[in-house]
Amino acid sequence: GKRTSMSIKDQRESLPAYKMRKQFLDAVRQYQLLIVVGDTGSGKTTQLTQYLAEDGFANDGVIGCTQPRRVAAMSVAARVSDEVGCRLGEEVGYTVRFDDKTCDRTRIKYMTDGIMQREILLDPALSRYSVIMLDEAHERTIATDVLFGLLKKTLKKRPDMKLIVTSATLDAEKFSTYFNECPILTIPGRTFPVEIMYSREPESDYLDAALTTIMQIHLTEPAGDILLFLTGKEEIDTSCEILFERMKALGPAVPELLILPIYGALPSEIASRIFEPTPDGTRKVVIATNIAETSITIDGIFYVVDPGFVKQTAYDAKLGMDRLQVTPISQAQAKQRAGRAGRTGPGKCFRLYTESAFQNEMLPTTIPEIQRQNLSNTILMLKAMGINDLLGFDFMDPPPTNTMLTALEELYALAALDDEGLLTRLGRRMADFPMDPALAKSMIASIELGCSEEMLSIVAMISAVQTVFHRPKEKQQQADQKKSRFHDPAGDHLTLLNVYNGWKGAGRSDPWCFENFIQPRSMKRAEDVRKQLVQILDRHRLKVVSCGRDTTRVRQALCSGFFRNAARKDPQEGYKTLVEGTPVYMHPSSALFGKAAEHVIYHSLVETTREYMHNVTSIEPKWLVEAAPTFFKVAGKDGMGMSKRKQA
Ligand code: ADP
Ligand code: MG
Repeated sequence: GKRTSMSIKDQRESLPAYKMRKQFLDAVRQYQLLIVVGDTGSGKTTQLTQYLAEDGFANDGVIGCTQPRRVAAMSVAARVSDEVGCRLGEEVGYTVRFDDKTCDRTRIKYMTDGIMQREILLDPALSRYSVIMLDEAHERTIATDVLFGLLKKTLKKRPDMKLIVTSATLDAEKFSTYFNECPILTIPGRTFPVEIMYSREPESDYLDAALTTIMQIHLTEPAGDILLFLTGKEEIDTSCEILFERMKALGPAVPELLILPIYGALPSEIASRIFEPTPDGTRKVVIATNIAETSITIDGIFYVVDPGFVKQTAYDAKLGMDRLQVTPISQAQAKQRAGRAGRTGPGKCFRLYTESAFQNEMLPTTIPEIQRQNLSNTILMLKAMGINDLLGFDFMDPPPTNTMLTALEELYALAALDDEGLLTRLGRRMADFPMDPALAKSMIASIELGCSEEMLSIVAMISAVQTVFHRPKEKQQQADQKKSRFHDPAGDHLTLLNVYNGWKGAGRSDPWCFENFIQPRSMKRAEDVRKQLVQILDRHRLKVVSCGRDTTRVRQALCSGFFRNAARKDPQEGYKTLVEGTPVYMHPSSALFGKAAEHVIYHSLVETTREYMHNVTSIEPKWLVEAAPTFFKVAGKDGMGMSKRKQA
């Protein structure tokens, strides 16, 4: 039976959560805190909020539901507004960073856990809310972990407020212990057995193995859709293209294969296609990032292909910063992925690793983010909430002391904290910008340097999208040539500014974008972000001032946030970071590629074949010292031999 043939009401009532509706509402009425466990797809995210609203819990307050991922918040809100029968942004809405689709009438609000954190910063009592649902708590993002502790406090101040914590796995016992032994409600599953197949030998090229497996399934296995897990956008786009070519080569004799990508950066209109039922006689293959592991459920999947990898951020001590890295998944994740094949009927999971790798090389469970990521953002936020005793904070799993010290040191160097570790006025201001402390610092510094007009555009362009440049495979040369016309001799930040100003000067026109290989959608998003940044400046009564052609100041302002990300040209090859002396390289897409920039700062590092700097700007070393006198001390009269400040 295809789902489309069912009315929305029937669909809703067929979900496992529906059988527990009454018990759930009774439990929420009886207890302030409740944990709900249920398999992925049982209806926790889309149904529980609606049950609460139907039962009157939204009469004098909003029902807020957090999601670790922004795409999940957006797609779930869209689905629930459909089910409720309202326009998205009315009774049902969502808020993610730089994108708010809610109004005064919104009763059910989905949001990222990061947004909820910001709301606590503005109103610790969360007085607008009657119920908070911390959804997908098993994902253990930093923001969700911090919300555990913050909301525990809020509940004491708000005896009328309810907190529901949901999980797809059996961490529930641990959650219950942490949340004062609160009750656990279990939604009984309805899953079918999944046959697990392992590779006999380790795969040297998992992408190739994955695509071959998909073709084999398509050509030899009975009907049923396929779900493949890959690590990111590039991999997914490449795989879609290769599969498309292989299918084309086979000609019309083989049944059709619908190839659908899904990842975080994909616009939500395209993403919603993955939910549409597959037409008879065709098969669908969804190629997804980890988002399809638990956040999003696609019906009709009978085959899962699992290469066993995930891209996650982890703190890299060698570089002194967080970095996206491809790492093996945990056993718990492998089980979760396999389970996706058994929702509609008995399924199969093809693990592209050996059984011995599963048993001996994978960790039993994933390490919570809070124990592996940079915490400067989080600590700045906690300090801004007046929480100074970080060691005493009620963490479910406390971060390593070392990680906390590194973050404190970083915030101190940015002058967000004073000698005693207390928040400075600057630090308080930085906390109000929803971005990394380094970027917030550059933004604020630009006001004093008289170039906030320019910095607003740059920060917006960097925060809004991964890239505004469009580089289609068959027209790369032409695209690169157009891009080079925007290149600024001082580097990529000012190149982005040139693009923004060019677009604005051309009346924000789409034809201008197409002609220049710029993505119009990205520009509009950047403009949107920029407007919101202007609002934050207004709230602080900070001025928007332009430096005109004197863009040196922009580079100085960038130094005041990114002095840690400074590198110097190595006489041999590439660059070396000033702080740790790690070799890094200019990315070929940079405006400074092949140029003789001696000192540079970069926005981020991306590792492919080697460590590449992204968004690079040439600077003068003395600006670094001016920007962070406590961080750098000048050794040697040329002012270039720098050593890391020893912190007491
Ligand atoms: P859980 O949170 O327990 O994992 P969900 O509430 O997310 O479960 O999903 C319940 C059902 O709703 C699933 O069958 C899922 O496929 C369906 N669903 C969720 N989002 C959409 C959507 N955008 N379009 C169609 N169906 C959806
Ligand atoms: Mg869910």
